[in-house]
Amino acid sequence: MRLTRYFLPTLKETPREAQIVSHRLMLQGGMIKQQQAGIYSWLPLGWRVLKNIERIVHEEQERAGHIPLLMPTLQPAELWRESGRYDAYGPEMLRITDRQNREMLYGPTNEEMITDIFRSHVSSYRDLPLTLYHIQWKFRDEMRPRFGVMRGREFLMKDGYNFDLDKEAALHAYNRHMVSYLRTYERMGLTAIPMRADSGPIGGEDTHEFLVLAETGESEVFYDDRVTGLKLGAREVDYDDRAEIAAICEEFTTLYARTDETHDAAVYEAEVPEAHRRVGRGIEVGQIFYFGTKYSEPMGAVVQGPDGRQVPVHMGSHGIGVSRLLGAIIEASHDDKGIVWPEGVTPFHAGVVNLRAGDGDCDAACAAIEAGLAARGLEALVDDRDARAGEKFGTMDLIGLPWRVTVGPRGLKDGKVELTSRRTGEAEEMSVEAVIDRIA
Ligand code: ATP
Ligand code: MG
Ligand code: MG
Ligand code: MG
Repeated sequence: MRLTRYFLPTLKETPREAQIVSHRLMLQGGMIKQQQAGIYSWLPLGWRVLKNIERIVHEEQERAGHIPLLMPTLQPAELWRESGRYDAYGPEMLRITDRQNREMLYGPTNEEMITDIFRSHVSSYRDLPLTLYHIQWKFRDEMRPRFGVMRGREFLMKDGYNFDLDKEAALHAYNRHMVSYLRTYERMGLTAIPMRADSGPIGGEDTHEFLVLAETGESEVFYDDRVTGLKLGAREVDYDDRAEIAAICEEFTTLYARTDETHDAAVYEAEVPEAHRRVGRGIEVGQIFYFGTKYSEPMGAVVQGPDGRQVPVHMGSHGIGVSRLLGAIIEASHDDKGIVWPEGVTPFHAGVVNLRAGDGDCDAACAAIEAGLAARGLEALVDDRDARAGEKFGTMDLIGLPWRVTVGPRGLKDGKVELTSRRTGEAEEMSVEAVIDRIA
Protein backbone atom coordinates (compact mmCIF):
# COMPACT_ATOMS: atom_id res chain seq x y z
CA MET A 1 0.00 0.00 0.00
CA ARG A 2 1.35 3.40 -0.97
CA LEU A 3 0.77 6.09 1.61
CA THR A 4 -0.14 8.68 -1.03
CA ARG A 5 -3.07 6.43 -1.99
CA TYR A 6 -4.00 5.48 1.56
CA PHE A 7 -5.98 7.30 4.25
CA LEU A 8 -3.82 7.84 7.32
CA PRO A 9 -4.89 11.09 8.99
CA THR A 10 -2.17 11.39 11.65
CA LEU A 11 -2.24 14.35 14.02
CA LYS A 12 0.75 16.59 14.72
CA GLU A 13 -0.49 18.07 17.95
CA THR A 14 -1.21 16.14 21.14
CA PRO A 15 -4.97 15.66 21.50
CA ARG A 16 -6.08 17.34 24.71
CA GLU A 17 -8.84 14.85 25.52
CA ALA A 18 -6.46 11.88 25.80
CA GLN A 19 -5.62 11.03 29.41
CA ILE A 20 -3.76 7.80 28.72
CA VAL A 21 -1.07 6.92 26.22
CA SER A 22 -3.05 4.36 24.19
CA HIS A 23 -5.86 6.84 23.58
CA ARG A 24 -3.38 9.54 22.56
CA LEU A 25 -1.46 7.26 20.20
CA MET A 26 -4.63 5.92 18.57
CA LEU A 27 -5.79 9.48 17.87
CA GLN A 28 -2.35 10.71 16.75
CA GLY A 29 -1.80 7.62 14.63
CA GLY A 30 -5.03 8.19 12.72
CA MET A 31 -6.64 4.96 13.95
CA ILE A 32 -9.92 6.19 15.40
CA LYS A 33 -12.17 9.22 15.40
CA GLN A 34 -14.60 9.95 18.18
CA GLN A 35 -18.15 10.54 16.92
CA GLN A 36 -19.86 10.89 20.29
CA ALA A 37 -18.76 10.16 23.84
CA GLY A 38 -17.62 6.52 23.81
CA ILE A 39 -18.56 5.96 20.15
CA TYR A 40 -15.81 5.74 17.54
CA SER A 41 -15.25 5.39 13.85
CA TRP A 42 -12.46 2.96 13.05
CA LEU A 43 -10.21 4.62 10.51
CA PRO A 44 -8.33 2.34 8.08
CA LEU A 45 -5.26 1.70 10.26
CA GLY A 46 -7.31 1.04 13.41
CA TRP A 47 -9.70 -1.13 11.43
CA ARG A 48 -6.80 -3.31 10.26
CA VAL A 49 -5.67 -3.97 13.83
CA LEU A 50 -9.25 -4.63 14.95
CA LYS A 51 -9.61 -7.22 12.15
CA ASN A 52 -6.33 -8.90 13.16
CA ILE A 53 -7.51 -9.18 16.75
CA GLU A 54 -10.84 -10.61 15.57
CA ARG A 55 -9.03 -13.14 13.39
CA ILE A 56 -6.91 -14.40 16.29
CA VAL A 57 -10.00 -14.65 18.50
CA HIS A 58 -11.84 -16.65 15.83
CA GLU A 59 -8.90 -18.98 15.21
CA GLU A 60 -8.49 -19.82 18.89
CA GLN A 61 -12.22 -20.26 19.50
CA GLU A 62 -12.56 -22.60 16.56
CA ARG A 63 -9.47 -24.50 17.68
CA ALA A 64 -11.22 -25.07 21.01
CA GLY A 65 -14.27 -26.45 19.17
CA HIS A 66 -16.50 -23.42 19.63
CA ILE A 67 -18.86 -22.51 16.80
CA PRO A 68 -19.21 -18.99 15.35
CA LEU A 69 -22.56 -17.45 14.43
CA LEU A 70 -23.91 -13.89 14.42
CA MET A 71 -26.77 -12.45 16.44
CA PRO A 72 -28.21 -8.98 15.86
CA THR A 73 -27.34 -5.91 17.92
CA LEU A 74 -31.04 -5.07 18.50
CA GLN A 75 -32.99 -7.36 20.77
CA PRO A 76 -36.66 -7.49 21.82
CA ALA A 77 -37.46 -6.46 25.41
CA GLU A 78 -39.67 -9.55 25.89
CA LEU A 79 -36.69 -11.89 25.91
CA TRP A 80 -35.12 -9.91 28.72
CA ARG A 81 -38.42 -9.89 30.64
CA GLU A 82 -38.31 -13.70 30.59
CA SER A 83 -35.01 -13.74 32.44
CA GLY A 84 -36.02 -10.86 34.68
CA ARG A 85 -33.11 -8.71 33.51
CA TYR A 86 -35.06 -6.09 31.55
CA ASP A 87 -35.90 -4.19 34.72
CA ALA A 88 -32.84 -5.32 36.67
CA TYR A 89 -30.20 -4.15 34.19
CA GLY A 90 -30.49 -0.43 34.90
CA PRO A 91 -29.40 2.67 33.01
CA GLU A 92 -26.45 1.00 31.22
CA MET A 93 -29.01 -0.54 28.86
CA LEU A 94 -29.95 1.54 25.83
CA ARG A 95 -33.70 1.14 25.35
CA ILE A 96 -35.34 1.93 22.02
CA THR A 97 -38.88 1.79 20.65
CA ASP A 98 -39.71 1.24 16.99
CA ARG A 99 -42.57 2.88 15.02
CA GLN A 100 -45.03 0.22 16.28
CA ASN A 101 -44.05 1.12 19.84
CA ARG A 102 -42.36 -2.22 20.31
CA GLU A 103 -39.74 -2.12 23.02
CA MET A 104 -36.25 -3.05 21.97
CA LEU A 105 -32.75 -2.66 23.29
CA TYR A 106 -29.25 -2.49 21.89
CA GLY A 107 -27.69 -5.64 23.35
CA PRO A 108 -25.16 -5.15 26.14
CA THR A 109 -24.66 -8.97 26.13
CA ASN A 110 -26.53 -11.97 24.66
CA GLU A 111 -27.39 -14.63 27.26
CA GLU A 112 -31.13 -14.32 26.62
CA MET A 113 -30.93 -14.38 22.84
CA ILE A 114 -28.57 -17.34 22.65
CA THR A 115 -30.75 -19.24 25.14
CA ASP A 116 -33.72 -18.52 22.87
CA ILE A 117 -31.84 -19.90 19.87
CA PHE A 118 -30.85 -22.97 21.83
CA ARG A 119 -34.34 -23.78 23.14
CA SER A 120 -35.81 -23.37 19.65
CA HIS A 121 -33.55 -26.00 18.10
CA VAL A 122 -32.06 -28.34 20.68
CA SER A 123 -34.04 -30.86 22.70
CA SER A 124 -31.77 -33.84 23.33
CA TYR A 125 -28.64 -34.41 25.37
CA ARG A 126 -27.24 -36.03 22.22
CA ASP A 127 -26.72 -32.56 20.73
CA LEU A 128 -24.49 -31.55 23.65
CA PRO A 129 -21.93 -30.29 24.39
CA LEU A 130 -22.44 -27.13 22.38
CA THR A 131 -20.63 -23.79 22.55
CA LEU A 132 -21.75 -20.96 20.27
CA TYR A 133 -20.10 -17.57 20.06
CA HIS A 134 -20.11 -14.38 18.08
CA ILE A 135 -18.11 -11.19 17.70
CA GLN A 136 -20.61 -8.37 17.67
CA TRP A 137 -20.98 -4.73 18.70
CA LYS A 138 -22.42 -4.13 22.14
CA PHE A 139 -23.81 -1.01 23.70
CA ARG A 140 -23.55 -0.09 27.35
CA ASP A 141 -24.41 3.43 28.34
CA GLU A 142 -21.38 3.72 30.61
CA MET A 143 -21.56 6.45 33.22
CA ARG A 144 -18.00 7.53 32.39
CA PRO A 145 -16.93 6.51 28.90
CA ARG A 146 -13.21 7.30 28.77
CA PHE A 147 -9.74 6.31 27.73
CA GLY A 148 -10.79 5.98 24.10
CA VAL A 149 -11.80 2.47 23.06
CA MET A 150 -10.86 1.17 26.48
CA ARG A 151 -14.21 2.15 27.99
CA GLY A 152 -16.47 2.89 25.09
CA ARG A 153 -20.24 2.88 25.03
CA GLU A 154 -20.36 1.05 21.71
CA PHE A 155 -17.66 -1.63 21.74
CA LEU A 156 -16.82 -4.90 20.06
CA MET A 157 -16.98 -8.04 22.15
CA LYS A 158 -16.56 -11.71 21.56
CA ASP A 159 -19.15 -13.48 23.66
CA GLY A 160 -19.51 -17.24 23.80
CA TYR A 161 -22.05 -19.44 25.54
CA ASN A 162 -21.73 -23.09 26.48
CA PHE A 163 -24.63 -25.54 26.86
CA ASP A 164 -23.93 -28.74 28.75
CA LEU A 165 -25.86 -31.57 30.35
CA ASP A 166 -24.41 -31.22 33.82
CA LYS A 167 -22.15 -29.11 35.96
CA GLU A 168 -19.09 -31.24 35.34
CA ALA A 169 -19.37 -30.86 31.57
CA ALA A 170 -20.04 -27.13 31.92
CA LEU A 171 -16.92 -26.73 34.05
CA HIS A 172 -14.93 -28.41 31.30
CA ALA A 173 -16.33 -25.79 28.92
CA TYR A 174 -15.26 -23.12 31.42
CA ASN A 175 -11.76 -24.55 31.51
CA ARG A 176 -11.63 -24.80 27.73
CA HIS A 177 -12.41 -21.13 27.55
CA MET A 178 -9.70 -20.30 30.04
CA VAL A 179 -7.04 -22.13 28.04
CA SER A 180 -8.21 -20.75 24.68
CA TYR A 181 -8.16 -17.22 26.15
CA LEU A 182 -4.63 -17.67 27.47
CA ARG A 183 -3.50 -18.65 23.98
CA THR A 184 -5.46 -15.80 22.39
CA TYR A 185 -3.82 -13.14 24.55
CA GLU A 186 -0.36 -14.65 24.16
CA ARG A 187 -0.68 -14.48 20.38
CA MET A 188 -1.34 -10.76 20.76
CA GLY A 189 1.90 -10.34 22.70
CA LEU A 190 0.06 -9.88 26.00
CA THR A 191 0.42 -11.41 29.43
CA ALA A 192 -3.16 -11.60 30.71
CA ILE A 193 -3.46 -13.09 34.17
CA PRO A 194 -6.59 -15.00 35.14
CA MET A 195 -7.77 -13.61 38.46
CA ARG A 196 -10.58 -14.85 40.61
CA ALA A 197 -13.45 -12.38 40.26
CA ASP A 198 -16.80 -11.43 41.65
CA SER A 199 -19.83 -12.64 39.72
CA GLY A 200 -21.60 -9.24 39.63
CA PRO A 201 -24.88 -8.66 37.78
CA ILE A 202 -24.65 -11.68 35.44
CA GLY A 203 -24.67 -13.82 38.57
CA GLY A 204 -22.82 -17.07 38.87
CA GLU A 205 -20.61 -19.35 40.82
CA ASP A 206 -17.27 -19.65 39.08
CA THR A 207 -15.70 -16.68 37.36
CA HIS A 208 -12.28 -15.39 36.40
CA GLU A 209 -11.29 -12.11 34.83
CA PHE A 210 -8.20 -11.80 32.62
CA LEU A 211 -6.08 -8.79 33.48
CA VAL A 212 -3.25 -7.15 31.62
CA LEU A 213 -0.97 -5.35 34.04
CA ALA A 214 -0.79 -1.63 33.29
CA GLU A 215 -0.49 1.46 35.48
CA THR A 216 -3.50 2.98 33.75
CA GLY A 217 -5.73 -0.04 34.43
CA GLU A 218 -9.00 0.58 36.23
CA SER A 219 -8.75 -2.44 38.55
CA GLU A 220 -6.47 -2.74 41.53
CA VAL A 221 -4.77 -6.14 41.54
CA PHE A 222 -2.93 -8.18 44.15
CA TYR A 223 -0.75 -11.03 42.96
CA ASP A 224 2.20 -13.30 43.42
CA ASP A 225 4.73 -11.99 40.89
CA ARG A 226 5.63 -15.53 39.81
CA VAL A 227 2.28 -15.63 38.02
CA THR A 228 3.62 -13.23 35.38
CA GLY A 229 6.20 -15.82 34.27
CA LEU A 230 3.62 -18.48 33.35
CA LYS A 231 3.34 -19.12 29.62
CA LEU A 232 1.28 -21.49 27.55
CA GLY A 233 3.84 -21.22 24.77
CA ALA A 234 3.69 -23.55 21.79
CA ARG A 235 2.47 -26.62 23.69
CA GLU A 236 -0.15 -28.72 21.95
CA VAL A 237 -3.37 -29.00 23.89
CA ASP A 238 -6.20 -31.46 23.40
CA TYR A 239 -9.37 -29.52 24.14
CA ASP A 240 -11.37 -32.73 24.56
CA ASP A 241 -9.11 -34.01 27.32
CA ARG A 242 -10.80 -32.84 30.51
CA ALA A 243 -7.92 -33.75 32.80
CA GLU A 244 -5.31 -32.07 30.63
CA ILE A 245 -7.32 -28.85 30.28
CA ALA A 246 -8.10 -28.80 34.02
CA ALA A 247 -4.40 -29.24 34.81
CA ILE A 248 -3.48 -26.21 32.68
CA CYS A 249 -6.12 -24.14 34.45
CA GLU A 250 -4.74 -25.23 37.79
CA GLU A 251 -1.23 -24.26 36.70
CA PHE A 252 -2.45 -20.75 35.88
CA THR A 253 -4.78 -20.20 38.85
CA THR A 254 -2.96 -21.66 41.84
CA LEU A 255 -0.70 -18.71 42.59
CA TYR A 256 -2.52 -15.85 44.27
CA ALA A 257 -3.96 -13.31 41.80
CA ARG A 258 -7.10 -11.32 42.60
CA THR A 259 -8.70 -7.98 41.90
CA ASP A 260 -9.76 -5.63 44.67
CA GLU A 261 -13.27 -7.12 44.48
CA THR A 262 -12.17 -10.52 45.78
CA HIS A 263 -8.86 -9.67 47.44
CA ASP A 264 -8.47 -11.18 50.90
CA ALA A 265 -5.53 -9.72 52.79
CA ALA A 266 -5.29 -12.64 55.21
CA VAL A 267 -5.11 -15.25 52.43
CA TYR A 268 -2.68 -13.07 50.45
CA GLU A 269 -0.28 -12.79 53.37
CA ALA A 270 -0.56 -16.47 54.24
CA GLU A 271 -0.03 -17.70 50.68
CA VAL A 272 2.43 -15.27 49.14
CA PRO A 273 5.97 -14.92 50.51
CA GLU A 274 6.71 -11.25 51.14
CA ALA A 275 9.32 -11.03 48.37
CA HIS A 276 6.74 -12.11 45.79
CA ARG A 277 3.85 -9.82 46.83
CA ARG A 278 2.83 -7.27 44.25
CA VAL A 279 0.07 -4.68 44.21
CA GLY A 280 -0.61 -2.98 40.92
CA ARG A 281 -3.24 -2.10 38.38
CA GLY A 282 -4.74 -4.07 35.52
CA ILE A 283 -6.97 -3.80 32.48
CA GLU A 284 -9.82 -6.34 32.25
CA VAL A 285 -9.59 -7.85 28.76
CA GLY A 286 -11.92 -10.79 29.29
CA GLN A 287 -14.03 -12.73 31.73
CA ILE A 288 -15.42 -16.26 31.95
CA PHE A 289 -18.46 -17.39 33.97
CA TYR A 290 -20.15 -20.62 34.93
CA PHE A 291 -23.71 -19.83 36.02
CA GLY A 292 -25.49 -23.17 35.87
CA THR A 293 -29.21 -23.00 35.14
CA LYS A 294 -29.70 -19.29 35.82
CA TYR A 295 -31.10 -18.64 32.34
CA SER A 296 -32.05 -22.13 31.18
CA GLU A 297 -34.52 -22.59 34.04
CA PRO A 298 -36.62 -19.41 33.66
CA MET A 299 -36.38 -19.53 29.86
CA GLY A 300 -37.15 -23.22 29.48
CA ALA A 301 -33.92 -24.32 27.81
CA VAL A 302 -34.27 -28.01 28.63
CA VAL A 303 -33.09 -31.21 27.01
CA GLN A 304 -34.12 -34.80 27.41
CA GLY A 305 -31.40 -36.56 29.38
CA PRO A 306 -30.17 -40.15 28.83
CA ASP A 307 -32.77 -41.35 31.36
CA GLY A 308 -35.62 -39.70 29.46
CA ARG A 309 -36.16 -36.89 31.97
CA GLN A 310 -36.25 -33.22 30.97
CA VAL A 311 -33.40 -31.22 32.54
CA PRO A 312 -32.39 -27.56 32.22
CA VAL A 313 -28.96 -27.22 30.62
CA HIS A 314 -25.92 -25.92 32.48
CA MET A 315 -24.53 -22.79 30.93
CA GLY A 316 -21.73 -20.29 31.10
CA SER A 317 -20.82 -17.14 29.23
CA HIS A 318 -17.37 -16.00 28.23
CA GLY A 319 -16.33 -12.61 26.89
CA ILE A 320 -13.29 -10.99 25.32
CA GLY A 321 -13.10 -7.21 24.95
CA VAL A 322 -12.03 -7.14 21.30
CA SER A 323 -11.99 -3.36 20.82
CA ARG A 324 -10.60 -2.76 24.34
CA LEU A 325 -7.68 -5.01 23.43
CA LEU A 326 -6.27 -2.38 21.06
CA GLY A 327 -5.90 -0.02 23.98
CA ALA A 328 -4.52 -2.75 26.24
CA ILE A 329 -1.92 -3.84 23.67
CA ILE A 330 -0.73 -0.26 23.18
CA GLU A 331 -0.59 0.36 26.94
CA ALA A 332 1.62 -2.74 27.19
CA SER A 333 3.74 -2.04 24.11
CA HIS A 334 4.86 1.50 23.29
CA ASP A 335 7.75 3.88 23.85
CA ASP A 336 8.13 7.65 23.84
CA LYS A 337 8.01 7.74 20.03
CA GLY A 338 4.85 5.74 19.55
CA ILE A 339 3.29 2.32 19.31
CA VAL A 340 5.34 -0.89 19.05
CA TRP A 341 2.94 -3.46 17.55
CA PRO A 342 3.42 -7.13 18.37
CA GLU A 343 3.81 -9.14 15.13
CA GLY A 344 0.48 -10.92 15.59
CA VAL A 345 -1.69 -7.81 15.32
CA THR A 346 0.37 -5.25 13.43
CA PRO A 347 -1.61 -3.38 10.74
CA PHE A 348 1.23 -3.81 8.20
CA HIS A 349 4.25 -6.05 8.60
CA ALA A 350 6.75 -3.45 7.44
CA GLY A 351 6.99 0.22 6.60
CA VAL A 352 9.11 1.19 3.61
CA VAL A 353 10.43 4.74 3.66
CA ASN A 354 11.25 6.07 0.22
CA LEU A 355 13.76 8.87 0.85
CA ARG A 356 13.47 10.15 -2.72
CA ALA A 357 9.99 9.48 -4.05
CA GLY A 358 9.96 10.07 -7.80
CA ASP A 359 13.51 8.80 -8.30
CA GLY A 360 13.31 5.82 -10.63
CA ASP A 361 15.70 3.55 -8.70
CA CYS A 362 14.18 4.35 -5.30
CA ASP A 363 10.64 3.82 -6.55
CA ALA A 364 11.59 0.53 -8.19
CA ALA A 365 13.34 -0.76 -5.05
CA CYS A 366 10.31 0.13 -2.90
CA ALA A 367 7.98 -1.62 -5.34
CA ALA A 368 10.25 -4.69 -5.34
CA ILE A 369 10.22 -4.88 -1.54
CA GLU A 370 6.44 -4.51 -1.43
CA ALA A 371 5.95 -7.19 -4.09
CA GLY A 372 8.50 -9.54 -2.52
CA LEU A 373 6.76 -9.33 0.84
CA ALA A 374 3.33 -9.71 -0.77
CA ALA A 375 4.53 -12.95 -2.42
CA ARG A 376 5.11 -14.24 1.12
CA GLY A 377 1.74 -13.08 2.38
CA LEU A 378 3.05 -9.96 4.11
CA GLU A 379 1.88 -6.39 3.64
CA ALA A 380 4.02 -3.27 3.49
CA LEU A 381 3.10 0.38 3.79
CA VAL A 382 5.32 2.45 1.51
CA ASP A 383 5.82 6.10 2.45
CA ASP A 384 6.08 7.70 -0.97
CA ARG A 385 5.09 11.17 0.17
CA ASP A 386 7.01 14.24 -0.85
CA ALA A 387 8.17 14.98 2.70
CA ARG A 388 11.34 15.27 4.77
CA ALA A 389 13.03 12.10 6.01
CA GLY A 390 12.47 13.15 9.63
CA GLU A 391 8.75 13.43 9.11
CA LYS A 392 8.58 10.01 7.47
CA PHE A 393 10.59 8.38 10.26
CA GLY A 394 8.35 10.09 12.81
CA THR A 395 5.23 8.66 11.18
CA MET A 396 6.69 5.16 11.08
CA ASP A 397 7.74 5.33 14.73
CA LEU A 398 4.29 6.61 15.69
CA ILE A 399 2.33 3.86 13.94
CA GLY A 400 4.76 1.24 15.23
CA LEU A 401 5.21 -1.30 12.42
CA PRO A 402 7.73 -3.98 13.53
CA TRP A 403 10.18 -3.26 10.65
CA ARG A 404 11.21 -0.13 8.80
CA VAL A 405 13.06 -0.38 5.50
CA THR A 406 14.77 2.83 4.45
CA VAL A 407 15.41 3.22 0.74
CA GLY A 408 17.65 6.06 -0.47
CA PRO A 409 19.77 6.84 -3.56
CA ARG A 410 23.07 6.70 -1.66
CA GLY A 411 22.59 3.17 -0.35
CA LEU A 412 21.08 1.91 -3.56
CA LYS A 413 24.30 2.81 -5.40
CA ASP A 414 25.86 -0.10 -3.48
CA GLY A 415 22.70 -2.17 -3.81
CA LYS A 416 21.82 -1.64 -0.14
CA VAL A 417 18.79 -0.57 1.87
CA GLU A 418 18.54 -0.24 5.66
CA LEU A 419 16.44 -2.47 7.89
CA THR A 420 15.52 -1.13 11.34
CA SER A 421 13.71 -2.99 14.11
CA ARG A 422 11.04 -0.84 15.77
CA ARG A 423 11.42 -2.66 19.06
CA THR A 424 15.21 -2.57 19.47
CA GLY A 425 16.13 0.29 17.15
CA GLU A 426 18.91 -1.86 15.69
CA ALA A 427 19.67 -1.05 12.05
CA GLU A 428 21.51 -3.03 9.41
CA GLU A 429 22.31 -2.45 5.74
CA MET A 430 21.52 -5.26 3.32
CA SER A 431 20.25 -6.03 -0.15
CA VAL A 432 16.58 -5.87 -1.13
CA GLU A 433 16.43 -9.68 -1.31
CA ALA A 434 17.99 -10.06 2.13
CA VAL A 435 15.50 -7.61 3.62
CA ILE A 436 12.58 -9.63 2.30
CA ASP A 437 14.05 -12.85 3.69
CA ARG A 438 14.69 -11.29 7.08
CA ILE A 439 11.17 -9.88 7.49
CA ALA A 440 9.43 -13.04 6.21
P1 ATP B 1 -15.75 -3.48 33.16
O1 ATP B 1 -15.51 -4.07 34.55
O2 ATP B 1 -14.51 -2.94 32.55
O3 ATP B 1 -16.91 -2.54 33.15
P2 ATP B 1 -17.38 -5.70 32.56
O4 ATP B 1 -16.94 -6.63 33.64
O5 ATP B 1 -18.60 -4.91 32.78
O6 ATP B 1 -16.17 -4.71 32.21
P3 ATP B 1 -18.01 -7.98 30.88
O7 ATP B 1 -19.49 -8.01 31.00
O8 ATP B 1 -17.22 -8.94 31.67
O9 ATP B 1 -17.48 -6.48 31.16
O10 ATP B 1 -17.65 -8.04 29.30
C1 ATP B 1 -16.61 -8.82 28.73
C2 ATP B 1 -15.44 -7.93 28.29
O11 ATP B 1 -15.87 -6.86 27.46
C3 ATP B 1 -14.72 -7.25 29.44
O12 ATP B 1 -13.80 -8.13 30.04
C4 ATP B 1 -14.03 -6.09 28.74
O13 ATP B 1 -12.80 -6.51 28.19
C5 ATP B 1 -15.00 -5.74 27.61
N1 ATP B 1 -15.76 -4.53 27.95
C6 ATP B 1 -16.72 -4.39 28.89
N2 ATP B 1 -17.21 -3.15 28.93
C7 ATP B 1 -16.53 -2.46 27.96
C8 ATP B 1 -16.57 -1.11 27.49
N3 ATP B 1 -17.42 -0.25 28.03
N4 ATP B 1 -15.74 -0.76 26.49
C9 ATP B 1 -14.89 -1.66 25.95
N5 ATP B 1 -14.80 -2.93 26.35
C10 ATP B 1 -15.61 -3.34 27.34
MG1 MG C 1 -18.95 -2.90 33.11
MG1 MG D 1 -15.60 -6.00 35.24
MG1 MG E 1 -16.30 -8.49 33.45
